[in-house]
Amino acid sequence: MESLGWYGSGFRLFGNPRGKWEIATVAGQEHQVHEVEFVILCIGRFSGVPNVPEFPPNKGPDAFPNGKVIHSMDYSAMDDSDAAKFVKGKRVVVVGLQKSALDIANECAIANGVENPCTLIYRNAHWNVPDYLPYGVHLGYLYLNRFSELLLHKPGEGLFLGLLATLLSPLRWAASKFVESYIKSKFPLKKYNMVPEHSFLQEISSCSLSTAPEKFYDRAPLETDVVILATGYKGDEKLKNIFKSPTFQNYIMGCSNSTVALYRECIHPRIPQLAVIGYSESVANLCTSEMRCRWLAHFLDDGFKLPSIKKMEKNVLEWEKFFKRYSGQYYRHSCIGVLHIWYNDQLCKDMGCNPKRKKGFYAVRALWTHGLCKSYSW
Ligand SMILES: Cc1cc2nc3c(=O)[nH]c(=O)nc-3n(C[C@H](O)[C@H](O)[C@H](O)COP(=O)(O)OP(=O)(O)OC[C@H]3O[C@@H](n4cnc5c(N)ncnc54)[C@H](O)[C@@H]3O)c2cc1C
Repeated sequence: MESLGWYGSGFRLFGNPRGKWEIATVAGQEHQVHEVEFVILCIGRFSGVPNVPEFPPNKGPDAFPNGKVIHSMDYSAMDDSDAAKFVKGKRVVVVGLQKSALDIANECAIANGVENPCTLIYRNAHWNVPDYLPYGVHLGYLYLNRFSELLLHKPGEGLFLGLLATLLSPLRWAASKFVESYIKSKFPLKKYNMVPEHSFLQEISSCSLSTAPEKFYDRAPLETDVVILATGYKGDEKLKNIFKSPTFQNYIMGCSNSTVALYRECIHPRIPQLAVIGYSESVANLCTSEMRCRWLAHFLDDGFKLPSIKKMEKNVLEWEKFFKRYSGQYYRHSCIGVLHIWYNDQLCKDMGCNPKRKKGFYAVRALWTHGLCKSYSW
């Protein structure tokens, strides 16, 4: 797909729209235009537009004539054997400390062993976990169940739940410190001055959580043949560039202190007849995207009506407040991670389904304490 243009009045945004989308596609030399009533964008967030650091003149890849500099996007485009050949026997530096960086560093370690250790250069330290079992307690018990969501302030929570979250805040703090202490006991973060300034709660709230194997933090001198920039993607820019209309482009980008404003993380209140699946993240994207698809299918089947634009925008702002509160500097990740049950409950309510899988207080309590992050615990 090349671009997306809306033709018509935006007066009625959803339901009996006065307009249509024109989708321009190109395949080889062939350009086509398709007219449709509703568009669902599933173009992904972690691909397409790489986030490449800006370098001063002559201080970037051009100052490195004997080596290679690529982005993780080019690395992941290679098949497994080409990627292994690319790094084999070379001194590799990976820039970044998130999912792509850790995945690539692991692959380099497998291809090269200890002779040519892979070096990571990072800007922000992160709470990468060695496993999901801090001191034998599954992370799901601490962060991904109904009880753990009671410890957090939620969009539209009301007085009682708000008060409860405030009263339980020491537990929230204790859970975060518990995991941080486990990570520090497993990795030499202190020794290498890599203890993050932010809390573990912030890490998981922004979906920045990654796993790293044991001995991952061992250091090596920095001489290199290959640099792989695992510096992420510009998912919002990719989404923006799809639209022909500068107005819609501005709606997507918003301003620097807001996330992409999607109602139920799916529909922009001011962009008619269009939904986005897969932009907002969670700890298990498969489960979240499936729920969102069901919600959308229900809506398209006239299963429920959307609220007014004003109400949708108010709701989006409430969620943004939550992102900012718990994800801190990473709030633009639009991650529903630690409130995914609360979020799914809202989708269920819109669809007219009971969000509680079990009946009765004791059954629900059992889910609170034992029910981990499984798609079937909605
Ligand atoms: C290193 C890494 C590790 C990850 N680990 C996990 C994990 O452990 N668990 C987890 O849940 N998630 C993980 N994720 C996130 C997960 O990969 C994504 O959430 C998931 O791939 C999203 O699926 P999607 O279909 O929305 O997008 P994608 O899988 O990105 O698919 C988008 C598709 O749209 C196509 N496309 C894009 N633009 C256009 C266009 N203009 N026209 C036509 N087609 C287009 C692309 O070619 C692609 O095929 C990870 C991501 C990364 C980068």
